[in-house]
Amino acid sequence: MNLSSFARAILCLFISVGQAVAQPPDNFRDASSEQLFFNARIITGDGAVIEQGSVLVRGDTILAVGSTSSIDTSQHAIRHDLSGKTIIPALVNTHAHLGWEAYGDWGSQFFTAENLADHLFRHAFYGVGTIISTGSDKEELAALVKLEQLKGNIGGARYHLSPGMGTPGGGPNPRFTDDPDYWGVHPVADPEQAVRTVKELAANGYGIAKIWVDSRDERRGAQVKLAPEIYTAVLETASSYDMRIIAHATTLADHKSLVNLGNRRFIHMPYDREVDDEYLEMIRENNVYIVPTLGMITKREPYYIPAFQDPFFYDQVPASVLESLNDNYNPPPADQSAAAEQRSAMLARNLAKLKDHIILGTDAGAVGDFFGYADHVELELFVRMGMSPAEAIVASTSRSAEAFGLNSVGSLKAGKAADFMILDANPLDDIRNTRQIIDVYLRGKRVDREALKQQWSQ
Ligand SMILES: [Zn+2]
Repeated sequence: MNLSSFARAILCLFISVGQAVAQPPDNFRDASSEQLFFNARIITGDGAVIEQGSVLVRGDTILAVGSTSSIDTSQHAIRHDLSGKTIIPALVNTHAHLGWEAYGDWGSQFFTAENLADHLFRHAFYGVGTIISTGSDKEELAALVKLEQLKGNIGGARYHLSPGMGTPGGGPNPRFTDDPDYWGVHPVADPEQAVRTVKELAANGYGIAKIWVDSRDERRGAQVKLAPEIYTAVLETASSYDMRIIAHATTLADHKSLVNLGNRRFIHMPYDREVDDEYLEMIRENNVYIVPTLGMITKREPYYIPAFQDPFFYDQVPASVLESLNDNYNPPPADQSAAAEQRSAMLARNLAKLKDHIILGTDAGAVGDFFGYADHVELELFVRMGMSPAEAIVASTSRSAEAFGLNSVGSLKAGKAADFMILDANPLDDIRNTRQIIDVYLRGKRVDREALKQQWSQ
């Protein structure tokens, strides 16, 4: 794509994504103005809770967080009395696939600047402030959208890119690779190519990349699993360029091998067997982070509710889309066999044992889950499988940010980005209260959720 067609795309985007969204809200006047959010319960994201607390924001940055009485404000600060409300950091989602989804439709034909921006706004609407798109972005276009966002021309969740590496013909699930216009992963057929590829990605400014360690043999015929000597080369080279690698791996044996060879982040937890003490010790010693993507593996559980039956999703979706989601819904029935129950119990035990390592990721945009909405479903699943609400919030905010060195987001502290949600109920009482969103602020600016909802539900 050349720059002039990109400029046209951006122009379209401003017309269609809505001027109400592009313009600052009334209560935000200039970058130096201060806003005080006071008398709220503040869940800081790193485990602390301040009752009757305040957050003081200047421009896009938090100046101070503390008890309301301890905060010094200028007389000119805009004041928001939040008695009875709760503030939590905006969520940090480390695993989704932006650009491909158009609700019911899906494919590379939708990968446009406009659709990418829409996906950033859909995350923002639901209080997700940061999103890492993992291994499926059309990199040239995605990088331009990211650049426009850094310049302040596109709002929504902060967009991070994570190019993918895999064996030739390998990579993501067949839905991607069956698409005739799939642009492919960066092939790494041997250690030399792995070293070259990581260096190239680093030279292009990428600080995060993904590898697939998955053969998917039966479904697409003898795809060769990324070999340990190749991922060793990836991991070693990446570490010397301060690049963070996240590995897609689903078996306990692959997890152990990857940790042994230097991997510290996983998409998917071991699904094939119960985790053992050896693994638990390895991940503790090496401070390993794991995205369990529970939403993806619980669709046949009896408690599963499709998004189009949940007002938290369907209230902001066009009626025509809902109709088609409804019409096309043809799931396998809930599996309540003894084997399925045993497997569910095993996965819940794994999640509970891994809970201090868990971070947020939804895989939304790849498997039929919806941006932003799926994040709240995932939080609920964290708690259903054994985390406390407080632990689920830490996992989805500060720990997710820490896993990728995203130091400005994920917690509410002086010097951090002013990215947070204001809730009407306390999520520590019931994790589903993260859905009681009154407002979302990103970069110190109120996200105009009403305007977005209007635009989407027309
Ligand atoms: Zn994925």
